[in-house]
Amino acid sequence: MASNGAKRGPPGEWSPSSWKSKRTKQVVTYDNPAAVSSALQKISTLPPIVTPTEIIKLRSSLRDAALGKSFLLQGGDCAELFSYCQDDPINAKIKLLLQMSLVLIWGSNKPVIRIGRMAGQFAKPRSSPTEVVDGKEIPSFRGDILNGFDVDARTPDPERLVSAYFHSATTLNYIRGQLASGIANLHNPLDWGLGHVRDKELQVRYQTIVRSISDSLRFMRTIGADTAGQLQTVDLYTSHEGLVLEYEQSLTRRLKHPAGYSPPQGSGDGKGWYNTSAHFLWIGDRTRQLDGGHVEYFRGIENPIGIKVGPTMKPDELVELLDIVNPSKDIGKVTLITRYGSEKIEGMLGSHIEAVKGSGHVVVWQCDPMHGNTRSTATGIKTREFSNIFSELSSALKIHKAHGSFLGGMHLELTGEAVTECTGGSVELGDEDLSLNYTTYCDPRLNEKQALELAFLVAGHYRE
Ligand code: PEP
Ligand code: MN
Repeated sequence: MASNGAKRGPPGEWSPSSWKSKRTKQVVTYDNPAAVSSALQKISTLPPIVTPTEIIKLRSSLRDAALGKSFLLQGGDCAELFSYCQDDPINAKIKLLLQMSLVLIWGSNKPVIRIGRMAGQFAKPRSSPTEVVDGKEIPSFRGDILNGFDVDARTPDPERLVSAYFHSATTLNYIRGQLASGIANLHNPLDWGLGHVRDKELQVRYQTIVRSISDSLRFMRTIGADTAGQLQTVDLYTSHEGLVLEYEQSLTRRLKHPAGYSPPQGSGDGKGWYNTSAHFLWIGDRTRQLDGGHVEYFRGIENPIGIKVGPTMKPDELVELLDIVNPSKDIGKVTLITRYGSEKIEGMLGSHIEAVKGSGHVVVWQCDPMHGNTRSTATGIKTREFSNIFSELSSALKIHKAHGSFLGGMHLELTGEAVTECTGGSVELGDEDLSLNYTTYCDPRLNEKQALELAFLVAGHYRE
Protein backbone atom coordinates (compact mmCIF):
# COMPACT_ATOMS: atom_id res chain seq x y z
CA MET A 1 0.00 0.00 0.00
CA ALA A 2 1.29 3.43 -0.89
CA SER A 3 1.26 5.95 1.94
CA ASN A 4 -1.48 7.94 0.19
CA GLY A 5 -3.57 4.80 -0.32
CA ALA A 6 -2.85 4.57 -4.03
CA LYS A 7 -0.40 2.23 -5.72
CA ARG A 8 2.43 4.00 -7.51
CA GLY A 9 2.83 3.35 -11.25
CA PRO A 10 5.72 1.25 -12.57
CA PRO A 11 9.04 3.11 -12.39
CA GLY A 12 10.36 4.55 -15.64
CA GLU A 13 13.59 3.63 -17.36
CA TRP A 14 16.60 4.11 -15.06
CA SER A 15 19.88 5.69 -16.10
CA PRO A 16 22.68 7.26 -14.04
CA SER A 17 21.08 10.63 -14.85
CA SER A 18 17.38 9.74 -14.57
CA TRP A 19 17.35 11.36 -11.10
CA LYS A 20 17.51 14.72 -12.88
CA SER A 21 13.87 14.38 -13.92
CA LYS A 22 12.81 14.15 -10.25
CA ARG A 23 12.49 16.76 -7.58
CA THR A 24 15.77 16.70 -5.70
CA LYS A 25 16.43 18.10 -2.24
CA GLN A 26 19.65 19.72 -1.07
CA VAL A 27 20.71 20.69 -4.61
CA VAL A 28 23.63 23.03 -5.07
CA THR A 29 23.54 26.14 -7.20
CA TYR A 30 26.86 27.18 -8.66
CA ASP A 31 27.75 30.56 -10.16
CA ASN A 32 29.63 28.94 -13.03
CA PRO A 33 27.81 25.92 -14.57
CA ALA A 34 30.46 25.50 -17.28
CA ALA A 35 33.11 24.86 -14.62
CA VAL A 36 30.83 22.26 -12.99
CA SER A 37 30.44 20.44 -16.31
CA SER A 38 34.15 20.36 -16.90
CA ALA A 39 34.86 19.15 -13.33
CA LEU A 40 32.33 16.33 -13.76
CA GLN A 41 33.70 15.53 -17.21
CA LYS A 42 37.16 15.20 -15.68
CA ILE A 43 35.92 12.88 -12.90
CA SER A 44 34.07 10.71 -15.38
CA THR A 45 37.36 9.93 -17.14
CA LEU A 46 39.21 8.97 -13.95
CA PRO A 47 39.43 5.31 -12.87
CA PRO A 48 36.97 3.76 -10.41
CA ILE A 49 37.97 4.27 -6.76
CA VAL A 50 36.51 0.87 -5.78
CA THR A 51 35.76 -2.17 -7.93
CA PRO A 52 32.71 -4.39 -8.59
CA THR A 53 34.52 -7.37 -7.02
CA GLU A 54 34.88 -5.49 -3.73
CA ILE A 55 31.38 -4.07 -3.89
CA ILE A 56 29.79 -7.49 -4.42
CA LYS A 57 31.98 -9.05 -1.73
CA LEU A 58 30.55 -6.53 0.73
CA ARG A 59 27.03 -7.07 -0.61
CA SER A 60 27.28 -10.78 0.04
CA SER A 61 28.73 -10.20 3.53
CA LEU A 62 25.77 -7.96 4.28
CA ARG A 63 23.48 -10.80 3.29
CA ASP A 64 24.99 -12.66 6.25
CA ALA A 65 24.31 -9.66 8.50
CA ALA A 66 20.69 -9.57 7.32
CA LEU A 67 20.37 -13.26 8.19
CA GLY A 68 21.87 -12.80 11.64
CA LYS A 69 25.15 -14.54 10.85
CA SER A 70 27.38 -11.46 11.13
CA PHE A 71 27.36 -7.95 12.60
CA LEU A 72 27.99 -4.64 10.81
CA LEU A 73 30.16 -1.99 12.44
CA GLN A 74 30.14 1.32 10.56
CA GLY A 75 31.81 4.46 11.85
CA GLY A 76 33.72 7.61 11.15
CA ASP A 77 33.41 11.37 11.04
CA CYS A 78 30.16 13.23 10.56
CA ALA A 79 31.88 15.51 8.06
CA GLU A 80 35.21 14.23 6.80
CA LEU A 81 37.45 17.13 5.80
CA PHE A 82 40.07 17.09 3.06
CA SER A 83 42.58 17.96 5.78
CA TYR A 84 41.89 14.64 7.57
CA CYS A 85 43.66 12.96 4.66
CA GLN A 86 46.85 12.49 6.71
CA ASP A 87 48.52 9.37 8.05
CA ASP A 88 47.85 9.81 11.79
CA PRO A 89 44.05 10.32 11.77
CA ILE A 90 43.60 7.55 9.19
CA ASN A 91 45.74 5.11 11.20
CA ALA A 92 43.90 6.00 14.40
CA LYS A 93 40.54 5.31 12.81
CA ILE A 94 41.62 1.98 11.32
CA LYS A 95 42.95 0.85 14.72
CA LEU A 96 39.83 1.96 16.56
CA LEU A 97 37.49 0.18 14.14
CA LEU A 98 39.66 -2.92 14.41
CA GLN A 99 39.62 -2.94 18.23
CA MET A 100 35.90 -2.27 18.38
CA SER A 101 35.29 -5.09 15.93
CA LEU A 102 37.29 -7.54 18.06
CA VAL A 103 35.23 -6.63 21.10
CA LEU A 104 32.01 -7.08 19.13
CA ILE A 105 33.15 -10.43 17.75
CA TRP A 106 33.85 -11.53 21.31
CA GLY A 107 30.43 -10.32 22.43
CA SER A 108 28.21 -11.42 19.60
CA ASN A 109 30.07 -14.57 18.57
CA LYS A 110 29.70 -13.43 14.99
CA PRO A 111 32.10 -12.17 12.34
CA VAL A 112 32.07 -8.38 12.12
CA ILE A 113 31.92 -6.44 8.83
CA ARG A 114 33.75 -3.10 9.09
CA ILE A 115 32.76 -0.05 7.06
CA GLY A 116 34.38 3.34 7.58
CA ARG A 117 32.53 6.60 7.07
CA MET A 118 35.78 7.48 5.33
CA ALA A 119 37.42 8.21 2.00
CA GLY A 120 34.52 10.26 0.67
CA GLN A 121 32.21 11.41 3.51
CA PHE A 122 32.59 15.01 2.31
CA ALA A 123 28.99 16.18 1.76
CA LYS A 124 26.55 17.35 4.43
CA PRO A 125 22.80 17.90 4.16
CA ARG A 126 21.77 21.05 6.04
CA SER A 127 18.45 22.00 7.59
CA SER A 128 18.97 25.59 6.49
CA PRO A 129 20.88 26.84 3.41
CA THR A 130 22.20 29.81 5.38
CA GLU A 131 23.38 30.58 8.90
CA VAL A 132 24.20 33.71 10.82
CA VAL A 133 27.88 34.15 11.74
CA ASP A 134 28.98 37.29 13.58
CA GLY A 135 25.65 38.94 12.74
CA LYS A 136 25.99 38.20 9.02
CA GLU A 137 23.88 35.72 7.08
CA ILE A 138 26.15 33.48 4.99
CA PRO A 139 25.70 30.14 3.16
CA SER A 140 25.90 27.13 5.51
CA PHE A 141 28.95 24.86 5.36
CA ARG A 142 27.89 21.92 3.21
CA GLY A 143 31.01 19.80 3.37
CA ASP A 144 34.41 20.05 1.69
CA ILE A 145 33.11 18.62 -1.58
CA LEU A 146 30.98 21.77 -2.06
CA ASN A 147 32.32 24.72 -0.05
CA GLY A 148 34.76 25.52 2.73
CA PHE A 149 34.11 26.04 6.44
CA ASP A 150 35.93 29.41 6.51
CA VAL A 151 33.39 32.19 6.23
CA ASP A 152 35.06 33.53 3.08
CA ALA A 153 34.98 30.09 1.40
CA ARG A 154 31.25 29.45 1.56
CA THR A 155 30.54 29.93 -2.16
CA PRO A 156 30.29 26.47 -3.80
CA ASP A 157 33.41 25.82 -5.86
CA PRO A 158 33.25 23.16 -8.63
CA GLU A 159 36.97 22.42 -8.32
CA ARG A 160 36.12 20.84 -4.96
CA LEU A 161 34.31 18.01 -6.78
CA VAL A 162 37.59 16.97 -8.42
CA SER A 163 39.42 17.47 -5.15
CA ALA A 164 36.91 15.14 -3.43
CA TYR A 165 37.77 12.40 -5.91
CA PHE A 166 41.49 12.74 -5.23
CA HIS A 167 41.12 12.93 -1.46
CA SER A 168 38.93 9.81 -1.50
CA ALA A 169 41.39 7.95 -3.67
CA THR A 170 44.38 9.03 -1.58
CA THR A 171 42.71 8.08 1.70
CA LEU A 172 41.69 4.69 0.38
CA ASN A 173 45.13 4.14 -1.13
CA TYR A 174 46.68 4.69 2.29
CA ILE A 175 44.13 2.43 3.99
CA ARG A 176 44.84 -0.32 1.49
CA GLY A 177 48.60 0.11 1.94
CA GLN A 178 48.43 0.06 5.72
CA LEU A 179 46.19 -3.01 5.77
CA ALA A 180 48.51 -4.82 3.37
CA SER A 181 51.48 -3.83 5.54
CA GLY A 182 50.11 -5.26 8.76
CA ILE A 183 48.39 -2.41 10.63
CA ALA A 184 45.62 -4.89 11.44
CA ASN A 185 47.92 -7.85 11.98
CA LEU A 186 46.51 -9.72 14.97
CA HIS A 187 49.85 -11.42 15.53
CA ASN A 188 50.91 -8.11 17.10
CA PRO A 189 49.70 -7.14 20.56
CA LEU A 190 47.16 -4.30 20.70
CA ASP A 191 47.29 -1.36 23.05
CA TRP A 192 43.89 -1.12 24.70
CA GLY A 193 44.65 1.90 26.92
CA LEU A 194 42.01 1.43 29.61
CA GLY A 195 43.77 3.55 32.25
CA HIS A 196 41.09 6.26 32.13
CA VAL A 197 38.33 3.98 33.44
CA ARG A 198 38.10 5.18 37.03
CA ASP A 199 35.12 3.03 38.01
CA LYS A 200 36.74 -0.11 39.51
CA GLU A 201 33.92 -2.43 38.52
CA LEU A 202 33.92 -1.25 34.90
CA GLN A 203 37.71 -1.42 34.76
CA VAL A 204 37.55 -5.10 35.82
CA ARG A 205 34.78 -5.85 33.31
CA TYR A 206 36.63 -4.30 30.39
CA GLN A 207 39.96 -5.88 31.41
CA THR A 208 38.25 -9.28 31.51
CA ILE A 209 37.04 -8.82 27.93
CA VAL A 210 40.47 -7.67 26.74
CA ARG A 211 42.16 -10.60 28.49
CA SER A 212 39.74 -13.03 26.92
CA ILE A 213 40.36 -11.60 23.42
CA SER A 214 44.15 -11.54 23.93
CA ASP A 215 44.15 -15.13 25.26
CA SER A 216 42.14 -16.36 22.28
CA LEU A 217 44.49 -14.69 19.83
CA ARG A 218 47.56 -16.05 21.61
CA PHE A 219 46.08 -19.54 21.59
CA MET A 220 45.42 -19.36 17.85
CA ARG A 221 48.95 -18.16 17.17
CA THR A 222 50.44 -20.88 19.38
CA ILE A 223 48.65 -23.73 17.70
CA GLY A 224 49.43 -22.27 14.28
CA ALA A 225 45.77 -21.78 13.44
CA ASP A 226 46.60 -19.02 11.00
CA THR A 227 47.63 -21.18 8.07
CA ALA A 228 45.62 -19.10 5.58
CA GLY A 229 46.92 -15.81 7.00
CA GLN A 230 43.50 -14.59 8.15
CA LEU A 231 45.00 -13.03 11.26
CA GLN A 232 47.35 -10.87 9.21
CA THR A 233 44.82 -8.39 7.88
CA VAL A 234 41.11 -7.54 7.81
CA ASP A 235 38.62 -6.09 5.33
CA LEU A 236 37.68 -2.45 5.75
CA TYR A 237 35.13 -1.01 3.35
CA THR A 238 34.35 2.66 2.63
CA SER A 239 31.03 4.52 2.69
CA HIS A 240 29.48 7.96 2.55
CA GLU A 241 26.12 9.63 2.22
CA GLY A 242 25.27 9.74 -1.50
CA LEU A 243 24.13 13.34 -1.40
CA VAL A 244 25.75 15.15 -4.32
CA LEU A 245 24.18 13.20 -7.15
CA GLU A 246 26.10 14.84 -9.98
CA TYR A 247 29.32 13.63 -8.32
CA GLU A 248 27.91 10.13 -7.74
CA GLN A 249 26.68 10.00 -11.34
CA SER A 250 30.13 10.83 -12.70
CA LEU A 251 31.55 7.79 -10.87
CA THR A 252 28.72 5.45 -11.86
CA ARG A 253 30.11 3.08 -14.44
CA ARG A 254 28.74 0.22 -16.50
CA LEU A 255 31.09 -2.59 -15.54
CA LYS A 256 31.32 -6.36 -15.77
CA HIS A 257 29.86 -8.23 -12.84
CA PRO A 258 32.40 -10.23 -10.85
CA ALA A 259 32.52 -13.96 -11.57
CA GLY A 260 29.70 -15.82 -9.88
CA TYR A 261 27.45 -12.79 -9.42
CA SER A 262 24.34 -12.28 -11.49
CA PRO A 263 21.82 -9.79 -10.16
CA PRO A 264 18.20 -10.85 -9.75
CA GLN A 265 17.07 -8.45 -12.48
CA GLY A 266 20.15 -8.50 -14.66
CA SER A 267 20.26 -7.16 -18.21
CA GLY A 268 21.75 -10.32 -19.68
CA ASP A 269 24.98 -8.73 -20.93
CA GLY A 270 26.90 -9.60 -17.77
CA LYS A 271 27.25 -5.95 -16.79
CA GLY A 272 25.66 -3.57 -14.32
CA TRP A 273 25.82 -0.01 -13.02
CA TYR A 274 28.30 0.31 -10.18
CA ASN A 275 28.85 3.41 -8.09
CA THR A 276 32.63 3.29 -7.89
CA SER A 277 33.05 6.18 -5.42
CA ALA A 278 32.59 3.90 -2.36
CA HIS A 279 31.61 0.35 -1.51
CA PHE A 280 28.47 1.38 0.38
CA LEU A 281 26.35 4.54 0.09
CA TRP A 282 23.40 5.67 2.08
CA ILE A 283 20.44 8.00 1.60
CA GLY A 284 20.10 10.56 4.36
CA ASP A 285 16.97 11.15 6.41
CA ARG A 286 16.39 14.48 4.62
CA THR A 287 16.57 13.12 1.07
CA ARG A 288 14.62 9.84 1.19
CA GLN A 289 11.39 11.09 -0.46
CA LEU A 290 9.75 8.29 -2.47
CA ASP A 291 9.48 10.44 -5.59
CA GLY A 292 12.76 12.32 -5.09
CA GLY A 293 16.00 12.35 -7.04
CA HIS A 294 18.02 10.44 -4.44
CA VAL A 295 15.71 7.44 -4.29
CA GLU A 296 15.62 7.42 -8.10
CA TYR A 297 19.43 7.37 -8.32
CA PHE A 298 19.85 4.71 -5.63
CA ARG A 299 17.39 2.26 -7.15
CA GLY A 300 19.66 1.67 -10.15
CA ILE A 301 23.05 0.86 -8.65
CA GLU A 302 24.45 -2.56 -7.76
CA ASN A 303 26.10 -1.41 -4.51
CA PRO A 304 24.64 -2.34 -1.16
CA ILE A 305 22.85 0.75 0.12
CA GLY A 306 21.68 2.22 3.41
CA ILE A 307 18.59 4.28 4.17
CA LYS A 308 18.39 6.48 7.24
CA VAL A 309 15.10 5.95 9.05
CA GLY A 310 14.12 8.79 11.35
CA PRO A 311 11.05 9.42 13.49
CA THR A 312 8.95 10.84 10.65
CA MET A 313 9.06 7.60 8.66
CA LYS A 314 5.67 5.88 8.37
CA PRO A 315 5.66 2.06 8.32
CA ASP A 316 3.89 1.83 4.92
CA GLU A 317 6.20 4.46 3.47
CA LEU A 318 9.17 2.37 4.61
CA VAL A 319 7.84 -0.69 2.82
CA GLU A 320 7.14 1.31 -0.32
CA LEU A 321 10.68 2.65 -0.24
CA LEU A 322 12.07 -0.88 0.01
CA ASP A 323 9.89 -1.96 -2.93
CA ILE A 324 11.31 0.86 -5.03
CA VAL A 325 15.01 0.40 -4.26
CA ASN A 326 14.95 -3.40 -4.01
CA PRO A 327 12.01 -4.79 -6.01
CA SER A 328 13.55 -8.27 -6.16
CA LYS A 329 13.81 -8.33 -2.34
CA ASP A 330 17.46 -9.30 -2.52
CA ILE A 331 18.61 -10.12 1.01
CA GLY A 332 21.25 -7.74 2.36
CA LYS A 333 20.95 -5.23 -0.48
CA VAL A 334 19.44 -2.70 1.93
CA THR A 335 20.57 -1.66 5.39
CA LEU A 336 17.98 0.29 7.36
CA ILE A 337 19.83 2.73 9.59
CA THR A 338 17.37 3.63 12.33
CA ARG A 339 17.96 6.90 14.22
CA TYR A 340 14.96 7.86 16.31
CA GLY A 341 16.50 9.07 19.57
CA SER A 342 16.58 7.25 22.91
CA GLU A 343 13.13 8.49 23.87
CA LYS A 344 11.38 7.81 20.58
CA ILE A 345 12.76 4.40 19.68
CA GLU A 346 10.29 2.49 21.91
CA GLY A 347 7.33 4.00 20.07
CA MET A 348 8.70 3.51 16.56
CA LEU A 349 11.07 0.62 15.95
CA GLY A 350 8.57 -2.16 16.68
CA SER A 351 6.08 -1.02 14.04
CA HIS A 352 8.86 -0.62 11.48
CA ILE A 353 10.12 -4.14 12.20
CA GLU A 354 6.61 -5.58 11.83
CA ALA A 355 5.93 -3.68 8.58
CA VAL A 356 9.17 -4.88 7.01
CA LYS A 357 8.59 -8.43 8.19
CA GLY A 358 5.10 -8.38 6.67
CA SER A 359 6.47 -7.16 3.34
CA GLY A 360 8.85 -10.08 2.86
CA HIS A 361 11.93 -7.84 2.69
CA VAL A 362 14.93 -9.04 4.68
CA VAL A 363 17.18 -6.12 5.63
CA VAL A 364 20.15 -5.39 7.81
CA TRP A 365 18.76 -3.53 10.83
CA GLN A 366 21.44 -1.11 11.91
CA CYS A 367 21.09 1.29 14.83
CA ASP A 368 22.48 4.82 14.51
CA PRO A 369 22.25 6.01 18.13
CA MET A 370 23.84 9.38 17.32
CA HIS A 371 21.50 11.45 15.16
CA GLY A 372 18.37 11.30 17.30
CA ASN A 373 20.31 12.22 20.44
CA THR A 374 21.83 15.59 19.64
CA ARG A 375 21.33 18.33 22.20
CA SER A 376 22.61 21.85 22.85
CA THR A 377 24.35 22.86 26.07
CA ALA A 378 23.37 25.99 27.96
CA THR A 379 26.10 27.82 26.08
CA GLY A 380 24.88 26.55 22.71
CA ILE A 381 27.41 23.77 22.02
CA LYS A 382 26.05 20.84 20.02
CA THR A 383 26.71 17.60 21.90
CA ARG A 384 25.43 14.10 22.62
CA GLU A 385 25.31 12.33 25.96
CA PHE A 386 26.97 8.91 26.08
CA SER A 387 24.21 7.40 28.22
CA ASN A 388 21.55 8.38 25.65
CA ILE A 389 23.62 6.85 22.88
CA PHE A 390 23.98 3.59 24.78
CA SER A 391 20.34 3.70 25.80
CA GLU A 392 19.15 3.83 22.17
CA LEU A 393 21.47 0.93 21.34
CA SER A 394 20.26 -1.23 24.19
CA SER A 395 16.64 -0.43 23.39
CA ALA A 396 17.30 -1.48 19.79
CA LEU A 397 18.76 -4.79 20.98
CA LYS A 398 15.78 -5.42 23.26
CA ILE A 399 13.05 -4.35 20.82
CA HIS A 400 14.46 -6.49 18.03
CA LYS A 401 14.54 -9.47 20.36
CA ALA A 402 10.96 -8.87 21.47
CA HIS A 403 9.85 -8.86 17.82
CA GLY A 404 11.72 -12.02 16.85
CA SER A 405 14.24 -9.90 14.95
CA PHE A 406 17.85 -9.01 15.76
CA LEU A 407 20.12 -6.02 15.58
CA GLY A 408 22.39 -6.41 12.55
CA GLY A 409 24.77 -3.56 13.18
CA MET A 410 25.63 -0.15 14.58
CA HIS A 411 26.41 3.14 12.87
CA LEU A 412 28.50 5.65 14.80
CA GLU A 413 30.11 9.04 14.46
CA LEU A 414 33.55 8.60 15.94
CA THR A 415 37.17 9.57 15.61
CA GLY A 416 40.41 7.94 16.71
CA GLU A 417 41.47 11.16 18.41
CA ALA A 418 40.97 12.44 21.97
CA VAL A 419 38.28 14.97 21.11
CA THR A 420 35.77 16.32 23.63
CA GLU A 421 32.53 16.50 21.69
CA CYS A 422 30.16 14.02 23.38
CA THR A 423 29.58 14.13 27.13
CA GLY A 424 29.68 11.22 29.57
CA GLY A 425 31.24 7.77 29.45
CA SER A 426 34.12 6.62 31.63
CA VAL A 427 36.11 9.67 30.59
CA GLU A 428 33.41 11.54 32.54
CA LEU A 429 33.21 14.56 30.26
CA GLY A 430 30.83 17.28 31.40
CA ASP A 431 29.33 20.18 29.44
CA GLU A 432 32.09 22.41 30.79
CA ASP A 433 34.81 20.11 29.33
CA LEU A 434 33.54 20.27 25.76
CA SER A 435 35.63 23.28 24.77
CA LEU A 436 38.90 21.46 25.64
CA ASN A 437 39.21 19.77 22.26
CA TYR A 438 36.03 20.34 20.28
CA THR A 439 37.15 20.06 16.67
CA THR A 440 34.21 18.71 14.66
CA TYR A 441 32.94 20.79 11.76
CA CYS A 442 29.52 19.21 11.96
CA ASP A 443 28.09 16.73 14.50
CA PRO A 444 29.80 15.70 17.77
CA ARG A 445 31.76 12.44 17.56
CA LEU A 446 32.64 9.81 20.13
CA ASN A 447 36.34 9.94 20.95
CA GLU A 448 38.40 6.75 20.85
CA LYS A 449 37.78 5.91 24.51
CA GLN A 450 34.04 6.51 24.33
CA ALA A 451 33.74 4.51 21.09
CA LEU A 452 35.63 1.55 22.52
CA GLU A 453 33.58 1.72 25.70
CA LEU A 454 30.39 1.57 23.65
CA ALA A 455 31.68 -1.58 21.97
CA PHE A 456 32.41 -3.10 25.44
CA LEU A 457 28.90 -2.26 26.61
CA VAL A 458 27.21 -3.69 23.51
CA ALA A 459 29.38 -6.80 23.72
CA GLY A 460 28.45 -7.16 27.39
CA HIS A 461 24.78 -6.93 26.47
CA TYR A 462 25.14 -9.93 24.16
CA ARG A 463 26.84 -11.94 26.87
CA GLU A 464 24.21 -11.18 29.53
C1 PEP B 1 24.68 11.88 9.13
O1 PEP B 1 24.76 10.65 9.11
O2 PEP B 1 25.66 12.63 9.35
C2 PEP B 1 23.35 12.52 8.92
C3 PEP B 1 23.22 13.75 8.44
O3 PEP B 1 22.36 11.71 9.31
P1 PEP B 1 20.78 11.78 9.07
O4 PEP B 1 20.57 11.77 7.57
O5 PEP B 1 20.30 10.53 9.73
O6 PEP B 1 20.28 13.02 9.72
MN1 MN C 1 26.10 13.59 11.42
